[in-house]
Amino acid sequence: MQTMDIEATEVVIVGAGGTGLTLAAELALAGVPAVVLDQLPGRNPQSRAGAVQPRTAELLQLRGLLDSALERSVDHRSVGGHFAGLPAPLDYSVWDTRYPSPLSLPQDRLEALLEDRLAELGGRVLRRHRLVDLQQDAEKVTAIVAGPDGIRSIRGRYLVACDGAHSNVRKLTGAAFPGQAGTVRSASADLVLTGDVADADHISGNIRTSPQGHFTLLTPLGNGLHKLTFSGPQTSRADADAPVTAEEVRAVLRATHGGSVDVAEVRYASRFSNASRQLEQYRHGRVLFAGDSAHIHLPAGGQGLNLGVQDAFNLGWKLAALIRDGAAEQLLDSYHAERHPLPGCSRSPGPRA
Ligand SMILES: Cc1cc2nc3c(=O)[nH]c(=O)nc-3n(C[C@H](O)[C@H](O)[C@H](O)COP(=O)(O)OP(=O)(O)OC[C@H]3O[C@@H](n4cnc5c(N)ncnc54)[C@H](O)[C@@H]3O)c2cc1C
Repeated sequence: MQTMDIEATEVVIVGAGGTGLTLAAELALAGVPAVVLDQLPGRNPQSRAGAVQPRTAELLQLRGLLDSALERSVDHRSVGGHFAGLPAPLDYSVWDTRYPSPLSLPQDRLEALLEDRLAELGGRVLRRHRLVDLQQDAEKVTAIVAGPDGIRSIRGRYLVACDGAHSNVRKLTGAAFPGQAGTVRSASADLVLTGDVADADHISGNIRTSPQGHFTLLTPLGNGLHKLTFSGPQTSRADADAPVTAEEVRAVLRATHGGSVDVAEVRYASRFSNASRQLEQYRHGRVLFAGDSAHIHLPAGGQGLNLGVQDAFNLGWKLAALIRDGAAEQLLDSYHAERHPLPGCSRSPGPRA
């Protein structure tokens, strides 16, 4: 593999999911040079997260993006929610917010909106570019990146890990990620349904269970697809990387919906667990962590993506203030202080796996 010369920038953003794209757009808005890289050839087309929560809606509105988010949203609303499936319903109507109802915006559409904004601001994502190593010294951090044209080195003042739950940056920096291993495995699939789809739309949003331990939540995506979030005896035992098959989905739908709907196609699908972990520090010298690279929990509930977007908003203006306006280095430490749980919140360390 050919090694290329060192490229200079101010911020290297590893990962172009919702967190990385938000941060990239914030830095572009402030005129701060950044390189955004992602190992994948394109955006993940799976709907995954389904809800924009009140604070994220406020931030989108601040950036003039809320109208576009509303245009891309699915026309159904709920009045509250939950955090990670905990038995504590959230009622946003008591908050001092203009947007007390979660907005039904699938993650792929929010990411498209963010990447469009980044492009309008002159930024772009280097796709098929994978971070393979990094080094930092007192002045700079160097990212070693494998791309289609070989290995390149990108040197910046800061590197932000937005590289998701299996963060390579976390591994390369040796950052501890304490918490609890997953005990329950579930799956999410974007489906083409047949049968009484109107009935499926009617019952969408309802959680259904079976005596055999199946669980389903069916939601129309407004583009001919339905998102099914589900678990059951077969799914909870499946390997994390095992493909989600039409047979598996069919069995769980039969258990919770009888024969009213069937699966014509599993368009996109993946598995997740209720593993729950959080970095002890969101800042490791010139390397900062945001989104799933910093914290994971059961993704159901719409907060995984929302937390990442909010991390990025918090971090973006601080990096811009340091780099562009010469703010004091200590400003960056307030990112950890503000985005990590408040002191006094009890958290069981749990088993390490
Ligand atoms: C099946 C499923 C269902 C979900 N449902 C919900 C839900 O209902 N509600 C909710 O809030 N959340 C849900 N989530 C979680 C939500 O998707 C995440 O919280 C969110 O994607 C986190 O965003 P992120 O940008 O931090 O990380 P990611 O979206 O994981 O993005 C990380 C990016 O980094 C890139 N990357 C990784 N390693 C490297 C590397 N070495 N070099 C370059 N690029 C790299 C990846 O390709 C990826 O594009 C779900 C997740 C899954 C898998």
